[in-house]
Amino acid sequence: MLGMSAGTRGCGWCVPRWSLYSGLKAEPLPHRPVRPDPDATTEQLEQSYPDILALLIAREAASDPLRQATYAWEESCLHQGPLISVIEAQSWLWSMWAKYSKRHRPAFTAPPQLIVEPNRRGAVMKTLQHRIVLAEGCVRRPWIAHEIGHALNPHEHHGPDWAETMITIWAEEFDIPRSRSLALARQHGVSVGAL
Ligand SMILES: [Zn+2]
Repeated sequence: MLGMSAGTRGCGWCVPRWSLYSGLKAEPLPHRPVRPDPDATTEQLEQSYPDILALLIAREAASDPLRQATYAWEESCLHQGPLISVIEAQSWLWSMWAKYSKRHRPAFTAPPQLIVEPNRRGAVMKTLQHRIVLAEGCVRRPWIAHEIGHALNPHEHHGPDWAETMITIWAEEFDIPRSRSLALARQHGVSVGAL
């Protein structure tokens, strides 16, 4: 069933080349619960949040054509930065959520859970579970920012709204000039929308 895979896959594991060396419209969701039950199964979450499930199914159907281009763009804009502790990562995620979530339409209003899993590659935002899962080597602010961008834009993968969010976060948190991110987006063929 498509719903099952859409729920568990989230945006898919994000594995930009950093790891080698270390279309849809944003409609407001009808309701925005605080957070899902962390012990619920995927099936239970799909039953509890049919609007979010419908959004994920539409997102899968739209696919993710610019995924590789956005990874290359991201790597051209900023370095992945140093490893930070899980406590630092959690704290930074909470402060980022407080700052950015009200400007967006996340599926849930509380900050996402942050889970670090050894023996994994890359990172993923699991929308239905409202959970960011990171490999140990990815506990770095730019990686977390990437997944926060997905949490803030659950209606698309690496689409124009996600790209716009990243440009804002890179400018405000990493001092990457907006004009530079936009110029590099053009070079890489990345679409940038206006939220
Ligand atoms: Zn991603």
